[in-house]
Amino acid sequence: MTPKRLAKIINEINTILLPRVCFGCNTQLFTEEHILCAVCRHDVPLTDHNYLVENEVDRIFYGRVPIKKAASFVFFSKNGLIKNLLHWLKYKNQEQIGGFFGDWCGTLIKERGELAHIEAVIPVPLHSKKLKKRGYNQVALFARTIAEHLGATYCDDWLIKVKNTKTQTKKGRQWRWESSKDAFRLNHSKNCTFKQILLVDDVITTGATIESCAQTLLQQQGMEVSVLSIAIVPEG
Ligand SMILES: [Zn+2]
Repeated sequence: MTPKRLAKIINEINTILLPRVCFGCNTQLFTEEHILCAVCRHDVPLTDHNYLVENEVDRIFYGRVPIKKAASFVFFSKNGLIKNLLHWLKYKNQEQIGGFFGDWCGTLIKERGELAHIEAVIPVPLHSKKLKKRGYNQVALFARTIAEHLGATYCDDWLIKVKNTKTQTKKGRQWRWESSKDAFRLNHSKNCTFKQILLVDDVITTGATIESCAQTLLQQQGMEVSVLSIAIVPEG
């Protein structure tokens, strides 16, 4: 028996003993399905953004910070599938959901031949205290998987968070901006020479976090920053 065949059998036994279920509807997943069943996967509200045509994420940053190009993979709504998936990803130790989105999104970007110029993929960092508490950065696996698809370097120790801000979900735009200001700095002990950066976050709402991270990165001469997020909260 080939190792591949053996792995498939073990995987199938595992599926019987520990049924893997869809994060969307709780039905049992087929062997080739991962995170979502085919029906729920079909329901994912893709934005269809690309890196050639202007979109609503680009417009968030106009006049605030010179982002080269931005895009989000899916729409976030207050109820529904994406909200639940991101909640599992962020608070319930389901880090593999980030890998699932990264693989899907990275495959599409690669197929369309976009972002070939990117040298380094940088996740929006968590403060070290928050990282310790949560155990992982919820955007890390998404960013790392995107980097793999692009053949770029995954770099999570250059941009660091120095202000431990509280969770921002219920605060207004001005408060978010104030608290994001000077929240990040570059780790100058890392001698990074990357100029073409893809900055990656989980959800973009007001854009304050990305703005602050990008301002910090753009302090370096000749830097160009593009942006990708798993989700965008639609306006209104
Ligand atoms: Zn499902």
